[in-house]
Amino acid sequence: MNTKTYTCYAITELGNMLGKCDEHGYYRGETCPVCNKKGKFLMSDRELDSLGRIMAGVLRHFPEKLGVNVDGHGWVDISAFVDAVGIGRSGFNWLREFHVEAIALTDQKGRYQIDGGMIRATYGHTIDVRLDDLPAAEIDAFYYPVTEEEIDIILEGGLNPIDRKYVHLSGSIEKAVEAGKVRTQDPLILRIDGAKAKEDNVMIYHAGKDVYVTERIDAKYISKVTDQSIVEQPVSVEEQPSVEEQSPGEEQPNVDKKPKKRKSTKKKTKKSEEKD
Ligand SMILES: [Zn+2]
Repeated sequence: MNTKTYTCYAITELGNMLGKCDEHGYYRGETCPVCNKKGKFLMSDRELDSLGRIMAGVLRHFPEKLGVNVDGHGWVDISAFVDAVGIGRSGFNWLREFHVEAIALTDQKGRYQIDGGMIRATYGHTIDVRLDDLPAAEIDAFYYPVTEEEIDIILEGGLNPIDRKYVHLSGSIEKAVEAGKVRTQDPLILRIDGAKAKEDNVMIYHAGKDVYVTERIDAKYISKVTDQSIVEQPVSVEEQPSVEEQSPGEEQPNVDKKPKKRKSTKKKTKKSEEKD
């Protein structure tokens, strides 16, 4: 389904440099988004983009290229990763563990998880990993973009991973459309009945900010979203401002109970990001 999308794991954003505020931690952009002060410079756009590609590539697709060990759940030792990049790639002798942590903790899509000196990608893998230790999805409806050619096959045969280890779902129609636009101009959207799937013990996990993963979805839970007007509605879960107030100080992307509203300055540059 997601052919070709996993190869464009760039986090290309202009004005996306990485800094650290003594008071508020790591941030992306020129100044700390909380206090507006210029913090300590950690990485330029170019360095961030370059290291971001290596991180996503190694953690999702080719750890063996840099000789990095990955455990069964996708975890990699951060210091081993730093050493491997220093040896395997030129121009990274400045790299330290905190640079990797800073990228992971400020990732706008919640692609990474950090725990006790270890890091992993939480979705997008082509390498064999088990993600059954991710938190269970807390929502009941999921969406998946398809093309005209695919829709009947999927409605009949269900959703199976094609070029990745898991099926990746979106939490809103809007996000599914966004994800689908990578492959087709006007994606058709499928709805997955998560409540019914849950009753049948189908596990769907919350992997990224708006990414849910599962091993496969049987056709009986899938239906077509017919009301195209829903797609045009700008309001989604992510837009509810109260969410942020309910979870103050959440730093780690993947432990968010619900997607948080992003700062408006970030939103404008989101378009060029990877769509998953
Ligand atoms: Zn600050």
